[in-house]
Amino acid sequence: MSKIKVKILTPLGLYKETEASIINVVSEDGQRGILPNHMPIVVILTISKMELEEEKREIYAVAGGMLYFKDNECTILCNAIENKSDIDLDRAYKAKERAEGHLKDPNSDLKRAELALKRAMNRISTYQA
Ligand code: ATP
Repeated sequence: MSKIKVKILTPLGLYKETEASIINVVSEDGQRGILPNHMPIVVILTISKMELEEEKREIYAVAGGMLYFKDNECTILCNAIENKSDIDLDRAYKAKERAEGHLKDPNSDLKRAELALKRAMNRISTYQA
């Protein structure tokens, strides 16, 4: 069965190059499954879990981003991504508490706090997946 070449980029540079037989992501419209030979597509990724069927199923926490797929090559651009096994749970809980504190403070940037809370919750739930 053909595979998809996957390249994941962050502002820090190349995060990972791999091959996957299925890519499961969450877009603003909901879950999307991408199999080899899928038609060309651009998908906006929410702050969410992403699953790649690599040598084994790998689960990632994605801090939102964009996916481009064409000719069995997939590029994922995101501000931050962690493999489930690399998530620092304690750090995520601290970020969650901080964001919740900001959300209670009318002088803080509520949109920013809301996004920080979503990233923290996503890391916690990916860790627990
Ligand atoms: P924090 O306040 O803890 O930095 P954040 O949501 O502001 O959280 P990001 O700006 O999304 O952090 O990410 C900054 C960098 O830190 C990225 O490289 C990201 O992969 C990494 N990172 C953030 N939180 C965690 C975590 N809980 N475990 C592992 N890596 C993390």
